[in-house]
This record gives sequence, C-alpha cells and structure tokens, in this order.
Amino acid sequence: MARLIDGKQVSADLKMRVKEEVAALKEKGVEPALAVIIVGSDPASRVYVNNKKKACELCGIRSVEYALEESTCEEELLALIDKLNEDETINGILCQLPVPKHINDKTVIERIDPKKDVDCFSNVNVGKMWVGDYAFKPCTPAGVMELLKAYDIDVSGKNCVIIGRSNIVGKPMAALLLEKNATVTICHSKTQNLAQICSKADIIVAAVGRAKFVTADMVKDGAVVIDVGINRSEEGKLCGDVDFENVKEKASFITPVPGGCGPMTIAVLMQNTLCAAKLQNNL
Ligand code: NDP
Repeated sequence: MARLIDGKQVSADLKMRVKEEVAALKEKGVEPALAVIIVGSDPASRVYVNNKKKACELCGIRSVEYALEESTCEEELLALIDKLNEDETINGILCQLPVPKHINDKTVIERIDPKKDVDCFSNVNVGKMWVGDYAFKPCTPAGVMELLKAYDIDVSGKNCVIIGRSNIVGKPMAALLLEKNATVTICHSKTQNLAQICSKADIIVAAVGRAKFVTADMVKDGAVVIDVGINRSEEGKLCGDVDFENVKEKASFITPVPGGCGPMTIAVLMQNTLCAAKLQNNL
C-alpha cells in the first residue's frame, strides 16, 4: 500500500518559506508584485487566477489583475504586456492560458520580458532551463521535483517514465529529472508498447489528460507514481490520470488528485515571483 504524497502540506511549507523571504525583502524596501492577465470568462481560468491571487495574498506578494474582455484584440493585449514590461513596480507577468482563439498564445508568451516570465514559458527561459542556467523553474514540473525532494525520493540513476510531451509539463519535466541524473523516457500518443515501458519504471509521471489512463498492470511493484493530470470522471468528480484505487496497492508512493501536484504549481509560481523581484533589484 503506497504512502500518500501530500501536496497540500508540501505546498503550504514552500509558500511559508516564500512568505518569510518576501517579508525580508520588504524590510529592504522591495515589494514583489505579480501581474495576472486573464482574457475572457473561461470558468476554469477564473478559478486558477483566483487561486493565484489567494496565494499571493498569503505570501505577501502584491497581485494586480487585468481582466480583459473576450473580444480584446491581440494588439491591445500586447500593448498591456509592453506597459507591464516597462513598469518597474511589477516583477512577474503571467497571461492565463488558454487565450481566445483570435489571439496567438505563442506571440503573447514571447512578448513578456524573459526577466518577468515567471511561468517560464518563453523560448529564452526554456532554453536556459535545458542548459541548466536558469532562475525561473517551470512551475508544474518544478512542483513535482519539490514533492520528490520532500519525501526523500532520490531520482539519480532511476528509470523515470514521463507520459506526455507538452511544452508545459512533459518536456520540462524531462529536463529537470535529467538534471538530477535520472534516466528519462518520454512517452506520447505515438509510443509503442507504452504499458510495457511503464511497467519497468521506478518513477512514473503521468501528464496525459485522461482519467484512469495509468492502470495497475502498467505499474511495477514499489514504483513511485506522480499524477499531474486534472480531469473530470464520468460522475463529474475531479480526478487525475492514474487509476488511483488500484495503483495505490502496488506503488510505494503516490500523489492524490486533488491535493497532489496541483497545489505545487502555484507555490512554485510564488517562488518564481520572489526570485524575479530579487533579480530585478540585484539582491
Ligand atoms: P497536453 O494535452 O498538452 O499533452 C498531453 C500529452 O499526452 C501529449 O503529449 C499527448 O501525446 C499525450 N497523450 C495523449 N493521449 C495519449 C495516449 N493515448 N498515449 C500516450 N500519450 C498520450 O496536456 P498538458 O501536458 O498540458 O496537461 C496534461 C494533464 O496535466 C492535463 O490533465 C492537465 O489538465 C494537467 N495539468 C496539470 C497541471 C497542474 O498544475 N497539476 C498543470 C498543467 C497541466 P501527443 O504529444 O503525441 O499528442
């Protein structure tokens, strides 16, 4: 029976550390600030933005929200980003994705000054991460690394299998695991013999976006199973990519959904905003 990895607790501890550092920065006259842009009224995006604002409040980070109409054109959004790039009182900028279809998300991401790109999505920051010369960490994968560290799970030399190759989760997850000397395999929708590959893994990171995708027969006895997925089950309940009830009987450690990776993403965002404020003030 697996030990549960408590993302709520680990994220609370991380936010507490950020809060202490923010308080110390304020003593030096620096108040970290995060600008959050939301375009349109997607309900899920609204929940994420509200959670980010709450985390900022908890950490003592000033948050400024820009809620733009669904009909906002790309030029208008880019002009706002230009203004925030210039604003010395703003340290981090994020634009909640997805943006409406008439706006190119890549153009938006690339317009954010890399020094303020606290999501770590820009080409410059992704490149820096791959060569190990980075300040900002990609929030969700870095959150996974924090969870592993909190439970003393050493990845060095381990056979790690990531399911999913998105720019937000799968690929940067591979970079961070590789940096810590894991042997990494990335699987995707064209992977052959996926179940067989997974069944040899010491650590599985699932980032697919499909409920109950990882079943017990794909998991080696004693493997560590990290579930990044956020899905709705047929009954409408929030669930991950892993068949939790059955996989927990075989794994040594497992993350629940909710309460596993999800809370970590926002905690790392707070850490990145603090880091941006320090860098921009040469501290
Ligand atoms: P994407 O849809 O961008 O990527 C999904 C990946 O899964 C793709 O690489 C795709 O392969 C792969 N995939 C899909 N079907 C299969 C299959 N049958 N076999 C093998 N691989 C498959 O999703 P994201 O990476 O953005 O997100 C993944 C999940 O994580 C989602 O549930 C999302 O909600 C959640 N998430 C959670 C976060 C958190 O804070 N905890 C943050 C971000 C995401 P291919 O590339 O070939 O299409």
